[in-house]
Amino acid sequence: EIRFDEVSKSYGETEVVKSLNFTIREGERLILLGPSGCGKSTTLRMIAGLEPLTTGDLYMGGERVNDVPSGQRDIAMVFQNYALYPHMTVWQNITYGLRVQRVPKDEVKKRANEAVRMLKLEGYEDRLPKDLSGGQRQRVALARAIVRQSQYFLLDEPLSNLDAKLRATARKELVNIHEAYRQTFVYVTHDQVEAMTVGERIALMYEGELQMLDTPERVYHQPRNIFTATFIGSPP
Ligand code: ATP
Ligand code: MG
Repeated sequence: EIRFDEVSKSYGETEVVKSLNFTIREGERLILLGPSGCGKSTTLRMIAGLEPLTTGDLYMGGERVNDVPSGQRDIAMVFQNYALYPHMTVWQNITYGLRVQRVPKDEVKKRANEAVRMLKLEGYEDRLPKDLSGGQRQRVALARAIVRQSQYFLLDEPLSNLDAKLRATARKELVNIHEAYRQTFVYVTHDQVEAMTVGERIALMYEGELQMLDTPERVYHQPRNIFTATFIGSPP
C-alpha cells in the first residue's frame, strides 16, 4: 500500500503536484493518467524516492518513507528510455541488480530464466542492447525489473517508444506479468486507451491535482467533473 497524505511538490515558485491525498492498494494495478506536464512522472519519482516531497507525508506499507533513500525502498522501476547498460549483454542486464544484491547464483539463474521465458527473450541472452529492436529492449527492461521481485513495480510510459502493434501485445504482457506476481503496480501513461485496457483503477491528474480515482468503467461512465469527461471522452 502506498498512501499520499497532503503531498505537494514545488520547483522554485511553481507547485507542480498539489495536495495529493490518495491510497494505492496492496497488489493493485493502478494507472496514473493525465496530459503532458500534469505531474505524473514527478508523482512516480516521489514514490521511487528519486524526488523529495516539498510538503506532506508518503507512506509505503504503513511506514513513513519521506526520508528513506531510493535504494532502501522495495521498488523496481522501468523508465521510458529503458536505461539499459549498453556494454552489458541481455543476460548481464537482467541479472546485474541481483548480483549486486548478492542473491545466490542458483536463485539468480532461476529468476532470470523465468523472466527470459516470460518475456520471450530466449536466444537473445548474449546480445548487446544496440543489436535489439525497440520492443526487445523494452522487454529486457521489464525482465530486469521483474527479477528483483520487488513489492512495488513502477513504470513510466514504458511502451511509448513502440509502434501501435507491439504496444498492444506489450499491454497484454504487462497485465500477465502483474497477474503472475501481483506486486503493487503503478503505471504512468498519457494514453487513455492504455489506461482503460491495463488499469484496474485509474488516477487521473490535471495540473498537479488528482481529478478522479476509480475503475475504468466509472471514470468512463460516471466522470466526476468536466475535465474527466472531456479527457476520457476525447479520441486518443
Ligand atoms: P509527460 O506526460 O510529458 O511526461 P508528466 O505528467 O510526467 O508529463 P512531470 O514530468 O511530472 O509531468 O512534470 C510536471 C511539471 O513539472 C512540468 O510542468 C515540468 O516542466 C515540471 N518539472 C519537472 N521536473 C522539473 C525540474 N527538475 N525542474 C523544474 N520543473 C520541473
Ligand atoms: Mg512524464
